[in-house]
Amino acid sequence: MNILIIGSGGREHALAWKIAQSPLVEVVWSAPGSPALDQIGPCFDVPADDVQGLHDLALQLEPDLIIIGPEAPLALGLADGLRARGFDVFGPGAEGAKLEASKGFAKDLMAQLGVPTAGYAKCRDMHAARSFLTTQTPPYVLKADGLAGGKGVVIAPDLDTAVREAEAMLSGKFGEAGAELILEEFMAGEEASVFVLTDGVNRLTLPACQDHKRLLDGDEGPNTGGMGAYAPAPVMTPALLSEVDETIAAPIIDALAEAGHPYQGVLYIGLMITDEGPKVVEFNVRFGDPECQVLMASLTDDIVPALLACATGGMPARDFARLLPELDAAQPAACVVMASPGYPGAYAKGSVIRNIKAADAVEGVTVFHAGTGVNEDGDWIAAGGRVLTVTATGDTLEQAVSRAYQAVDLIDWPEGQHRNDIAWRALKR
Ligand code: ATP
Repeated sequence: MNILIIGSGGREHALAWKIAQSPLVEVVWSAPGSPALDQIGPCFDVPADDVQGLHDLALQLEPDLIIIGPEAPLALGLADGLRARGFDVFGPGAEGAKLEASKGFAKDLMAQLGVPTAGYAKCRDMHAARSFLTTQTPPYVLKADGLAGGKGVVIAPDLDTAVREAEAMLSGKFGEAGAELILEEFMAGEEASVFVLTDGVNRLTLPACQDHKRLLDGDEGPNTGGMGAYAPAPVMTPALLSEVDETIAAPIIDALAEAGHPYQGVLYIGLMITDEGPKVVEFNVRFGDPECQVLMASLTDDIVPALLACATGGMPARDFARLLPELDAAQPAACVVMASPGYPGAYAKGSVIRNIKAADAVEGVTVFHAGTGVNEDGDWIAAGGRVLTVTATGDTLEQAVSRAYQAVDLIDWPEGQHRNDIAWRALKR
């Protein structure tokens, strides 16, 4: 079969790499793709948010399965449109994508279903914002309702800062995305992410991940898209994973199906493990980046049958449950993100990166490309904020981390920056 992947980042590179290993697959196309994806299969220069262009491309290629990587096209209803044309699509429709595209929608649905999460208020003016903030104790959690590229959340240390931030957000700091403000109760605990593959009815939980959002070692510095990740996260015991499935994944997925919008794709559940049990921090409606790189490396099974079953739907429960037979034996994996100088602020592009091949040759290591280009001499160059995801598996998490850093050390990119303490929480246990 032939598969079309929408997207161009490290997540899509990892998906393409994993999918290309399947004996079921002949060609992996990407749109818009990247120089790294082009080494796996042909890329088509259609941007991921060009809904009409992607419809035209799908009609031209007639893929057997379309996988939508990023959230923006899902929120635009790309999956709905392609399904209406008869394509099998991995990724929810616009209604399911609202779980990520509107934090207010997600909070309201959780409240209605009794899904454990932080208490909240939705505000459109300062009067409402002040009323809620004064009922809370510091720190204060403020969120723009809509998609803000992972930057729409502010944790304010005191009430004055919270009020100032609320004013800034309501006066357009995040544009339309912040027209509605979500204020939340602060949850203390350890964070973890759980990924659930679903065809809208059946569910399959992948190994839990932990990522590192802050730029610097010791979880210091500004927030980023993610500087590294690992799986399985030991904080998520089998008992906690089943609790998450029962109290979070099942009610949300069932409610969407009952409302006539079966969720077909991956539901990313961002969790806080509190003293009262796991509570939802956020939903994403696609694989996380860099968690996807870690998951693709760690799964020993062919993932294509599972992705296809989610996209087509209608598989008997017993068969769905058997889609990833070696899931329990997934290998420990970790990844280290190498980023451009200046990231997550304004960053310089164009510096040359050498020795990626040598890093790739380290046992258990795969270097995924999140933002690389090629210069006139044929060298890899930095072309984005997060540039490489150096990913490794091992018999133990310790070995995976050590292999990943061995590979990072081989990469000749003096300008690049990375963290040195990926997986510290798990390794400390
Ligand atoms: P992402 O970049 O993961 O897409 P986002 O912008 O969608 O993030 P959230 O995941 O909702 O935002 O929040 C970002 C971070 O803020 C969380 O990972 C968590 O550390 C912190 N956070 C969010 N909500 C809460 C809360 N209610 N209590 C404590 N911390 C919170």
